[in-house]
Amino acid sequence: MYFRDFLKIFLRILIVLDIIVDLPVTCTKCLCCICCPWAEPRWASVNRGVLICDECCSVHRSLGRHSSQVRHLTHTPWPPTQLQMVQMLYNNGANSIWEHSLLDPASVMSGKRKAIPQDKVHPNKTEFIKAKYQMLAFVHRMPCRDDDSFTAKDLSKQLHSSVRTGNLETCLRLLSLGAQANFFHPEKGNTPLHVAAKAGQVSQVELLTVYGADPGAPDSNGKTPIDYARQAGHHDLADRLVEIQYELTDRLAFYLCGRKPDHKNGQHFIIPQMADSFILHQTCHLLSLFNKLQLSNHLFEELAMDVYDEVDRRETDAVWLATQNHSTLVTETTVVPFLPVNPEYSSTRNQGRQKLARFNAHEFATLVIDILSDAKRRQQGSSVTSPKENVELILKSVSSRHGSEGQDNDQPDYDSVASDEDTDPDAPTGKGNRTKVLIHASHEYIL
Ligand SMILES: [Zn+2]
Repeated sequence: MYFRDFLKIFLRILIVLDIIVDLPVTCTKCLCCICCPWAEPRWASVNRGVLICDECCSVHRSLGRHSSQVRHLTHTPWPPTQLQMVQMLYNNGANSIWEHSLLDPASVMSGKRKAIPQDKVHPNKTEFIKAKYQMLAFVHRMPCRDDDSFTAKDLSKQLHSSVRTGNLETCLRLLSLGAQANFFHPEKGNTPLHVAAKAGQVSQVELLTVYGADPGAPDSNGKTPIDYARQAGHHDLADRLVEIQYELTDRLAFYLCGRKPDHKNGQHFIIPQMADSFILHQTCHLLSLFNKLQLSNHLFEELAMDVYDEVDRRETDAVWLATQNHSTLVTETTVVPFLPVNPEYSSTRNQGRQKLARFNAHEFATLVIDILSDAKRRQQGSSVTSPKENVELILKSVSSRHGSEGQDNDQPDYDSVASDEDTDPDAPTGKGNRTKVLIHASHEYIL
């Protein structure tokens, strides 16, 4: 037995015996799931900067993307610089941010501890992971101050000055405490992303954009982070920022036809055509429905963001099923059957989001292609400004139009699920992708 193997086993025995509460997070050669240090991690949580095992991933997924954005380490396509950012955070101890109070030996005495491999997924690991990421129960809290907004502004200013350095975990810590990725510094006249892009801090750019920073936001001189990256000669970084700016529509196009636009050559949209897939049979496009309802830019953004989340759910489900050995794990935890509740959204919107799971592949492809078409139309200037209907009604209309095409009437009605989740609406880190898509969409469709 090699010494490294011996060391791994020894460490795990100590953990099982509760002698230590955390693995040395800088140990890069013995990668372990950060939530239950035993199993080999095959997934990453992008916005948390941690690597996790299959079992913990199933819990992360059930919390929703607003809480944890998971990607398979080998079966999901990664932008290389984003994977590099996650690895850097993992190696440098990002987990200590989420488990700060557990590092205090006193917490062991009080009975607080990490999940251990022998724990059952439900309820033990689920409760631990919910406490850790949803309730942020172990995060170091700042001393209470009277003026919360001042504290948030303070944290955001710290973030603004930290992103010019390579200290990634400091920035994640500030973001976890409530610093705003899109904070506009009143004296400097720009955002943290302008600073990071100008300084060529690739990983900081990746982290900020995961937390919603807008690559197209103008500073006080009207210049965007993309402009500054390009001016400073960071051309790869500038190209990556353009990709991030179009992430929503690129992801939808890739879902349908496996291709992305060639932004470097000025192509920003792909609208899959008849030859691209089985959707050639589809004639009932929703574009006319969008026009008829005069869907406002804001409501269109919401719909596009919800469809993006549903694409992610379907793709991650497919990876999940392809990578399981169909043993007890699959039957115990199964897939995520519909989008989990996001407490930041209204119950009506949550219900609408969950109903997206009812669309069969054909219907869903139709919805995606029409969103792409309308996104392109809106970016080209013919925006609609008078809101007439909400997303729920749109989805209802879509469902009824496609009702004869294989709608499974026996599927459960998920409405009751949408309002009874015991989540903490104040959890500050639950908005990563949501905000990014929102900001992205705002830039695309309104400006
Ligand atoms: Zn685990």
